[in-house]
Amino acid sequence: MPFHTIIEPFRIHSTQRIRHTTPEEREAALVRAGYNLFGLRGEEVLIDLLTDSGTGAMSSRQWAAMMDGDESYAGSSSYERFRDTVQGLTGLAEVIPTHQGRAAEHILFSVMAKRGQVVPNNTHFDTTRANVEFVGAEARDLVIAEGRVPSSEHPFKGNMDLDALEATIGEVGVERIPLVMVTVTNNSGGGQPVSLENLRGVRRICDAHGIPLFLDACRFAENAWFIKLREPGQTDRTPREIVREMFSLVDGCTMSAKKDGMANIGGFLALNDAEVARKARNLLILTEGFPTYGGLAGYDMEAIAVGLEEVLDEDYLRYRIRSTAYLAEKAESAGVPTVRPPGGHAVYLDAKALLTHIPPSQYPAQALAVELYRTGGVRGVEIGSVMFGARHPDGTETPSDMELVRLAIPRRTYTQSHVDYVGEVIKEVAERRDQIRGLTIVEQAPWLRHFTARFAPV
Ligand SMILES: *Cc1c(COP(=O)(O)O)cnc(C)c1O
Repeated sequence: MPFHTIIEPFRIHSTQRIRHTTPEEREAALVRAGYNLFGLRGEEVLIDLLTDSGTGAMSSRQWAAMMDGDESYAGSSSYERFRDTVQGLTGLAEVIPTHQGRAAEHILFSVMAKRGQVVPNNTHFDTTRANVEFVGAEARDLVIAEGRVPSSEHPFKGNMDLDALEATIGEVGVERIPLVMVTVTNNSGGGQPVSLENLRGVRRICDAHGIPLFLDACRFAENAWFIKLREPGQTDRTPREIVREMFSLVDGCTMSAKKDGMANIGGFLALNDAEVARKARNLLILTEGFPTYGGLAGYDMEAIAVGLEEVLDEDYLRYRIRSTAYLAEKAESAGVPTVRPPGGHAVYLDAKALLTHIPPSQYPAQALAVELYRTGGVRGVEIGSVMFGARHPDGTETPSDMELVRLAIPRRTYTQSHVDYVGEVIKEVAERRDQIRGLTIVEQAPWLRHFTARFAPV
């Protein structure tokens, strides 16, 4: 290519206004929300990097396809298009639509796991962990050691530690492991990819013990792009070919279409085992809806079917992964350490390394997230001890390994100047790091507490 600027591979067709707030408005919003950024109103946020989930822009083709939605309660042709797309992409036989990824998780673990069992994963995402624990099983994270070290430059930091997986199976016993899961990319570990070689290794171990293997496939396309860029022998393959191989190594997957489905809502469970699928559909009817719509409208399934194709476009993936790295470079040059190398969908600021004066018991990553909002109206999310700290009956807590603030990038939504602005806000906050204070929790729920907890400044 003669030019090296990687451009947004789209032009803007419809816009949505965003508005600056005053420092006083932001302070009042923080107090009202109990210093929990989930409590802010959308209009109070200038650049919203809370999540890349369901927050992206859809293409004109997706909107057009929605007009063709078939809202038949049973036998919708939109379901058929959706099913054919998922089957074509994954090679998995049974396709069960759900309203989100977590509904697919809830159904999968309700059908396959039970009390006393252990589910290994590279790193469980928060809803995945909650759904495993909800059925009384244990969610065990077995990511490679490099995956727990923010500064390590390993190209596939999302890889499963194969020795630890073998050891876990030996210790727990095959009969107590209903399935193994691999999350691509590894969201909670920094959006880090998993290599094909590692997935093949996990498959070998699962085969040796007769244990089913599932993908948490939310960012399968971003993972495939990293494989293309970084894995020996993969450069000349298309993302679609790589994706097909990833799915050929598993027995099923859960998926949130709000990520690499490029849609605002939706998800699915796909798998090969017809008996498990039958049980899953029975539960689906109880909790989501009839099997040809799950929790979705016909038009949602249309949008997802188109999105699952668009996400594999090489221009899109090149721009997507590069724009994430660009934000990471901005943070690094502002003196804020990030999880290295940058992941697919988000930049993770290392609050433990930046705010060394705030102990984990005062939630340094929550404090940093609050400060980014206070300073520039930028909303990120804590991925640290608020989200993953282990709480004990006596009220004490074991902190999370890492204290991160995730700045997730909605798909096809913000331009380079938005990202430049975020870089300036990060710089301003980093320059005042010594003045940032920790927080204590004054109110919390028994699980997924990060969504609703209220904090007070220390
Ligand atoms: C978002 C996400 C989920 C849950 O999907 P929802 O659609 O939000 O319910 C599960 N796993 C991973 C890795 C995710 O990123």
